[in-house]
Formats: sequence, structure tokens, C-alpha cells
Amino acid sequence: MANISLFDEWLFDEPDEASSKSSHAKKTPKSAPAKFETYVWDETMDVPQTRQLWQRCLQELSYEVSERELKSWLEPLKAVVEGETLLLLGINPVFLRHAVAFLPSIQRILNRLGSPISEVVLKKQILPSSSVKLAKDKQQAVVGECIAVSAPIEEKYVFENFVKGKSNTLAYNACLELAKQAGKSGKSHPLFFIYGSSGLGKTHLMHAVAHRYQKVGLNCCYFSKDQFFRVAIGALRSGDGQVDSLVKEILQADLLIIDDVHLINNQNGPKVSQFLMTLFEEFTQGDKQLILASDRPPSQMEKFDSRFLSRFSGGLSLPVEPPDIETRIQILQRKATLIDMALPKECAIFIAQNIPPDVRRLEGALNQVDANIKLHGESVSLPLVKMALKDRVEARTRAVNAQNIREVVAEYYGVPVKDLLGKKRARPIVRPRQMAMALVRELTQDSFPEIGQAFGGRDHTTVIHACEQMAKLRESDPEVEKDYQALLATLEFV
Ligand code: ADP
Ligand code: MG
Repeated sequence: MANISLFDEWLFDEPDEASSKSSHAKKTPKSAPAKFETYVWDETMDVPQTRQLWQRCLQELSYEVSERELKSWLEPLKAVVEGETLLLLGINPVFLRHAVAFLPSIQRILNRLGSPISEVVLKKQILPSSSVKLAKDKQQAVVGECIAVSAPIEEKYVFENFVKGKSNTLAYNACLELAKQAGKSGKSHPLFFIYGSSGLGKTHLMHAVAHRYQKVGLNCCYFSKDQFFRVAIGALRSGDGQVDSLVKEILQADLLIIDDVHLINNQNGPKVSQFLMTLFEEFTQGDKQLILASDRPPSQMEKFDSRFLSRFSGGLSLPVEPPDIETRIQILQRKATLIDMALPKECAIFIAQNIPPDVRRLEGALNQVDANIKLHGESVSLPLVKMALKDRVEARTRAVNAQNIREVVAEYYGVPVKDLLGKKRARPIVRPRQMAMALVRELTQDSFPEIGQAFGGRDHTTVIHACEQMAKLRESDPEVEKDYQALLATLEFV
């Protein structure tokens, strides 16, 4: 959520360069050039060597500039080497204006890295003109692209690598059907709304659709959560028709994907909402397609105003649930094949049973097993898997009982465990007690009466009340939400 406040600040509180906390920002010349030469960039210019050089520079810069500066102004730039010149390209002049202040540092770092670059120049990146694009299209089989402003589409996120199970059938089938219909007119659902917790394959499915769109020559635009903000706010703040040109640019795409859309809401300002609404209107008409992903269903997107709510609900709602054990086993086997690992069935079962059903965690466990195989030079066996995952499994067993949760929560709030079980009704005790009950409810299979028992023999209605109370507080009070997430993390569940 930190990103949201960052972007809020950009929108509502134009940072005064002279008073900014950052030492670099202070040095930003007020007379920074307003105009930058344009540079036509296409994907063929994205050379690994140059990318690596720029990544090294960013890494070095991270020691001397603030994270905010690095993420906001420098990371989004694309790098091209021409002779002894390093060109840094940005779509938005606002980014470029801010980046000017860092040029001397970048040059110094390049010298230190032994690079032959003698000049670093900022330019405004523009798309190839349609004539260039047409000429290119004629030479090659028509393959659609990600438009320049888009985040990249992950290569391995294809349908072939996705395991269909009960938990994701609806979303999988709908996405596959949409992919098959790519390029044909008369679609019945111009808006897909995919929702579910983190790590369950939403992004994977959306990218799989994008691949198929590109295959038939259609263009895509994918916004990850950070990127949507960066692009929107950048254009909004630079004014003078930038928003219109950005909309025009995005309209070159046939498919627009906005990931983690729950993070965009009215609190980020009416202008961002308006920008989103414009895209909404454009991409739910004609043959265009819009796919949104969220961590909650349309009906719970409370922070959006009613215009959005009715539109979200008007789309095709596609839930993804945590995979059942069968699907988890299959996912593990599929992922193992992808990394050339021979994973015996009993090992897949052990991992599926002992790691929480979030696929990202399953992958993490598999990678840990893989690292252990490489370290010990052994093939995969149950003892090796158990040894490799010992910490994760222990942490989970430790975490998933009421007693342990009580202890962790008591320690976190600095209250004695016995007070969580006792009758005290003072707020400094009631809040941790309710928090602990809600966590037991979320992380264990314990029923409400069992939880009541674990907290000094309380009635089950008290537990229900506590859980409801926590749900409300987490929504309304960011501090409570922060505590909740921190405790989940401590309990090894996030
Ligand atoms: P989300 O967007 O819902 O947070 P992702 O799409 O990023 O989740 O998925 C997290 C990881 O889990 C990715 O590596 C993805 O490939 C993998 N994954 C999720 N669901 C499946 C599935 N059903 N089959 C194969 N891989 C999956
Ligand atoms: Mg995602």
C-alpha cells in the first residue's frame, strides 16, 4: 500500500524540488530543460548487454539516491547505447526533467564500472511511426506487440503451463475461450473481472490471453499496479495534452489488462479515476477487450464510486480459489517438469500437504528443494524434501495452533498471555485478544466454540463478534491492518 500514498502525494502535493528531502532533488536545477529530443524506440533495441549495464548503474545509484527517486524517475527509463553515448529514454517529459539531476552521478558510476560511455543523454521515447511499423509487419508474420507504455508480458505465463483445477475452472475456461476468439468480432463479454487472493494465478491467466492476442497480430497493454500509477500520474502532472496522447497511445492496444485494480480507488484523486473511466469506456466497446484483476469481488470494491461499481459488476466475474490438494500436486509436478526436476509423487504430496495452498509458496518450496538437490548432488527423495523444507513445515505447524498464535500476538502487543485469556475489558487488552481470535479463525480449522475455549472459555458469540470487529477495523484503520499483516508475516503465512 505504500505505493498508493506515494502516488497520492504526487498528485495532490506537487513536490517542491527546493524543499524536497532528497539531496539529489535539491540539486535539481530549476532551469532543467523543458524539451527533450525525441527518439524512436522499438523492442529490437532492447539489447541484453545494455539492459545489464543500466541495471548495474541502477544498483550503484541505489546507494546514493532515495528509493523513491530511484523507482519513480530512474527505473522506468529505457537504455540504448549509441557509440560512446548512453541514451536514456522516457515516455514522459516529467520523468526526464527529474532524471536530469542524476546525470552526473550516472556518468561517474559508468566511469567507475570501466564503461567506455563518455556521454549520457536523456531523450523522449516515441513509438515507431505507423509506416515503420507497417514495413516491419510486411517483412514478418504479423505478430502483435505490447505497446510502448506497457509492462512486459511474462514469457512462461502461457496456457500450456497452467494447471486447470476445480478452483480455477471458470476463470481458465473463460480466458481460454477469449484467447481463441482473439481477432474475431462479436464478443459477448468485453470486460473480464478476475478476482481471488494473491498467488492463485490471476496474472498468469491474463498474460496467457495476451500471448494469444499477440500471436494473431493484436496489440496488448499490460499495467501492473505500480505502473498504472506511474504512467497515469506522470501524464496528469505534465499537463499540456499529455493525458490525451497517453489515452491515444493506449488505444493502439486491442487488449488492455490492469492488474491489482483494487489498489486504484477514488482516494487517489478524481483525475486518476477519470483517466481510468476513459479507458474503461474505450476498451469495453467495439472489438477491444478489458481484463481486470483484483483481490476481491466487484461487490467489495468499496473504495470506488458507484459509476465503477456498476461497471465492474457488469463484466464477467471470474473467481479463482486456492487449489485443492489434487490440483496442488499437479501444479507441483508441472512446475518440476519446467525446471527439469524428477519429482516423485510422494514428494509432491508431501509438499502439497504441508505448504499453504498459495501457488507462489508452492513454487518457493519447490525451488528450495531444487537448491538442496544441487547442493547435495542427490536426486529427489522424501527425506531430502523433508530436510529441505524443515523450517517452512515447522513454522507452519508452529503457527497453526491457537496456543502459538496467542503467544505471538501477546508478544507483539507486549501484553501477558494470561490477559488474553482473562476477563480484563480494557482496550489495550481487548484489541490484542480480538486480533488473536481473528488470526486463529483465519489460520486454523478451529470452530468458533473451540476458539472460545482457547481464550479462557468464552462463548462462541464473543468469538464471532471479535472476528467481525477485526474485519471492520482492518478496513477502517490502516494501523490495525498493518498489525494484522505483520502478525501474519510473523506466523509465516504471508
Ligand atoms: P496472482 O496474480 O493471482 O497473485 P500469479 O499469476 O502471479 O498469481 O501466480 C503466482 C505463481 O503461481 C506464478 O508463477 C504462476 O505461474 C503460478 N500459478 C498460479 N496458479 C497456477 C496454476 N493453476 N498452474 C500453474 N501455475 C500456477
Ligand atoms: Mg498478480
